[in-house]
Amino acid sequence: MFSYRRIVLKLSGEAMAGPSHVGLDDETIERIARSIQEVHALGIEIAIVVGGGNFWRGRSSTSIERASSDHMGMLGTVINALRLQASLENLGLETRVQTAIQMQEVAEPYIRRRAIRHIEKGRIVIFGAGTGLPYFSTDTTAALRALEIDADCILVGKKGTDGVYNKDPNKFKDAHKFDHLSYRDVLTMGLTVMDSTATSLAMDNDLPIVVFGIDQPENMVKVVQGEDLGTTITGDHK
Ligand code: UDP
Repeated sequence: MFSYRRIVLKLSGEAMAGPSHVGLDDETIERIARSIQEVHALGIEIAIVVGGGNFWRGRSSTSIERASSDHMGMLGTVINALRLQASLENLGLETRVQTAIQMQEVAEPYIRRRAIRHIEKGRIVIFGAGTGLPYFSTDTTAALRALEIDADCILVGKKGTDGVYNKDPNKFKDAHKFDHLSYRDVLTMGLTVMDSTATSLAMDNDLPIVVFGIDQPENMVKVVQGEDLGTTITGDHK
């Protein structure tokens, strides 16, 4: 098994939206921030990749060019990064936001070595603006940044579910939850845990993925304490 010495937490935009699925919900974000604080208090180094689906997804529009639409999506992730930073700092945590699209009046640019240095000093680094490139996702960003900063795994907080199922548990009563999956299972079964680019990148570099339910943010504390919650995705099917 892998350790949780340094993790990348992937939060979808929707995780920050509360019941409405759009915009930002103060109470939801504060609950997530408190759980992140608990994980940090365990001595675990944390970087966070935030999504932007609560504002905009590039593929949502058929009437504008995809690259422009993706730029809009990436800017949405920066709003989420700043909002999460505010809640973490209200709890007394030291944080930095680094963005893959330069906007130095707002946040630091993404510089790998500087991000690692912040993390080593106990700061929580939030990565905004995805990879900075259209046609990619924040799932892929999470895998990429986890590899770049030598994280042990990606923790993926999913809204509306507590792990990976063979079919939608909200629609099918007989849906089966997987405790462990291999990357290849995820790809061949077409499971929508992370997109295929992100899953392939994790597979090619043996980067473990742990999926848990973010509706109870406390789950992330239990996961790093070794509780077998959610679904673990690794190279070897157990
Ligand atoms: N995006 C992008 N490149 C990236 C990351 C994100 O173009 O490297 C855009 C893309 O349009 C995406 C949007 O930003 O739909 C929001 O990110 P994502 O859909 O991954 O957010 P989530 O679903 O996790 O909230």
